[in-house]
Amino acid sequence: MADLQTLIAAVDDHVDEIVKLEQDLVRMPSVNTGFMPTGDETPVAEFCQKWFANEGIESKIMARDADRGNIIAVMQGDKPKTRLMLMSHTDVVPVEDETKWSYEPFGAEISAGRVYGRGASDCKSLLTSQMMAMAIMKRNGVEFEHGLRMVSGADEEHGGRWGFGWLMENHPEELESEFAVNEGGGMPIEDGGNLSYLLNTGEKGRLEVHITVRGSSAHASVPWTGENASYGVAEILKRIEVYEPERDTSLEFFNHLAAFAIEDKPTAQNIDSVIAEVHERNPRLASMMRALSRMTLTPTMISGGIKSNSVPETIKITCDVRTLPFQDDNYLRTQLDEIFDGMPNVEYDIDYMAVPNNSEFDTELMDAIRVAQAMAVSRDDITWVPGISNGFTDSRFTRPLGIVTYGFKGDHPDDDPMLARAHGTDESVGISSLISSTKAMIAVAWQMCNAR
Ligand SMILES: [Zn+2]
Repeated sequence: MADLQTLIAAVDDHVDEIVKLEQDLVRMPSVNTGFMPTGDETPVAEFCQKWFANEGIESKIMARDADRGNIIAVMQGDKPKTRLMLMSHTDVVPVEDETKWSYEPFGAEISAGRVYGRGASDCKSLLTSQMMAMAIMKRNGVEFEHGLRMVSGADEEHGGRWGFGWLMENHPEELESEFAVNEGGGMPIEDGGNLSYLLNTGEKGRLEVHITVRGSSAHASVPWTGENASYGVAEILKRIEVYEPERDTSLEFFNHLAAFAIEDKPTAQNIDSVIAEVHERNPRLASMMRALSRMTLTPTMISGGIKSNSVPETIKITCDVRTLPFQDDNYLRTQLDEIFDGMPNVEYDIDYMAVPNNSEFDTELMDAIRVAQAMAVSRDDITWVPGISNGFTDSRFTRPLGIVTYGFKGDHPDDDPMLARAHGTDESVGISSLISSTKAMIAVAWQMCNAR
């Protein structure tokens, strides 16, 4: 009969094996360009399936396209349902400029306590930790009251249509779980001598607003016979530039700023001055506070005009928009209508990439994570802060299914998050994080699935 302390201690005897698994996964270039055929996640899924089979853990591959497999492994409990899902993804973003890398991008070289390579951090480190956590529990004869599931999806980096998005729509039973942990959170923040971890409970919405500005064409030698759409564009850009999004400090995050030595909860009125103060000592935190206190509306692309000697009739502006979890479609439309007020030649449509989403913060999973991370890194002074991510992950597919999903990786406080460089040159993961994350995954599963 196993006990949690012993299992966690056992992880330290498996460091070489953990690092080897991470290296094996990084060496498979499951690069997702976003354009089919791409991804090539199936070799990774097959590798995992074989690996699980060796451990006596059931797994299967589900795929919308044969080359883009999703790997699903289940450890059954006494009860029929699974209670916790360990999530990650198997695809990686392309390597932009290989010559800038100090290490072979798919070589998984080790240097100064880190494993280097594309996907080393995002997201094969989490996959490694979750697989090793399951194997160590299995080898030690751990049994569960409630089942445990691991799903590593394809295509996370380009919308999830071959991965979690497809599973959610077509095989929601494969995601059946009350709770889930995924990438996108659980990073340590040291501030003012305190150790905090940011736990992502939700994500801002990401959408595009496509604005069409209309005029009427004419020969450019007699421009007064037409109406140049460019001037409408100039007006719109000016209006967007001076647009002040409503300030809001209602996210749970703002109730936890004491972790960063901000004693009073900021209000919508004073948030900008608080941010200015924080910026002096911690620009990263200030930037986060700014992103979580407002919607952003950012013009990113303009296209229009058909000929250098024609007055342009239509010009399109694309804006990237990030909404807070409670800012719905109606809210956005009200804001846009106000911005474009009195401009009859302007139309827009909204294209959702990801709807904003959020899980509650005060749950059993949160309690389990507190205990798990304290054990994993032997620290009992951790403060947890609920964050909302600016980007999005596959969690946006599981939260609407009612699965409480947190971004929680269990990184080690000695592993500087700035070194991970997800999507960047010389991406890497600290071996200390691979170890702490494996421990944390064991401890979360142990508690949530009532293990013995
Ligand atoms: Zn990722």
